[in-house]
Amino acid sequence: TEALLQVKNLKKYFPIKKGILQQTVGHVKAVDNVSFTVNKGETIGIVGESGCGKSTTGKTILRLLEPTDGEIIYKNENLASLSASKLKEYRKEMQIVFQDPFSSLNPRYRIGRILERPMEIHNLYTKKERKQKVAEILQKCGMDPSAVNKFPHEFSGGQRQRIGIARALTLNPNLLILDEPVSALDVSIQSQIINLLEDLQDEMDLTYLFISHDLSVVRHISDRILVMYLGQMFEMSETMALFKEPLHPYTRALLSAIPVHNPTEKRERIVLKGDLPSPSNPPGGCVFHTRCPSAMDICKQVKPDWKQAKDGHFVACHLY
Ligand code: SF4
Ligand code: MG
Repeated sequence: TEALLQVKNLKKYFPIKKGILQQTVGHVKAVDNVSFTVNKGETIGIVGESGCGKSTTGKTILRLLEPTDGEIIYKNENLASLSASKLKEYRKEMQIVFQDPFSSLNPRYRIGRILERPMEIHNLYTKKERKQKVAEILQKCGMDPSAVNKFPHEFSGGQRQRIGIARALTLNPNLLILDEPVSALDVSIQSQIINLLEDLQDEMDLTYLFISHDLSVVRHISDRILVMYLGQMFEMSETMALFKEPLHPYTRALLSAIPVHNPTEKRERIVLKGDLPSPSNPPGGCVFHTRCPSAMDICKQVKPDWKQAKDGHFVACHLY
């Protein structure tokens, strides 16, 4: 296995400003010391509730948000410290697909123009070649090439997401960051889009970072899964191992909420007490201790280290 992307100790803090003078009184640690490696051709799922930092992690990797600290190593370059002009070269290779393609597809432009635009910006191909490329990619994404003459509002949510994916593919990327790509879609359409993503991955040698609040959505497509909570990494392992034997109490609670079809997999529903703490004022020690059914005295005082509990299965919890 060959590493495509290495995220090392990534941090993204947002200042909290107060009063008329807008003085910085603290920070929201939206991404707090996140490290993982994405191998070529792999799909990593990043899962957690809203506000856990998963989207911010994705956007910071692409430097759509500036990292506060840490490294983003891609092809032996640290993207975190690249100049804007050098970054542009790498931008082509990493694209993002958003949850709501409607808000990211300009309603006043026809699909053809929307899809040709990224190639224009990067000075790729002749006009004729760009049109050809668009037709090809639309077809790969299960759309009729005649879509180029229509406007975004003329398509259903699922079709718009196919167009959003097509746009991300026009630059021949290596890595796609899929930020809740199916969360706005009906369940039946969700599986169509996930199947499409899997086909495209094989056909175009793509590597995915698949961000979702829904463990059952990432289960099918991910090779490995990272569970996040309040900006921190709680658990990471191969998908099968995570579902078979979740280690972190938070992961167990998330898993227990998924309806199971297989009766031998029956789990007891774990309902977490309390609400998600405010990210601007997270609990000390283990940030999960206020809601954890297994919390011990040490959990209030000491933040657990990230450790390997089993082969390839990592967790941050004092139980291990
Ligand atoms: Fe629960 Fe303690 Fe583990 Fe945190 S460290 S998840 S509070 S048992
Ligand atoms: Mg795969």
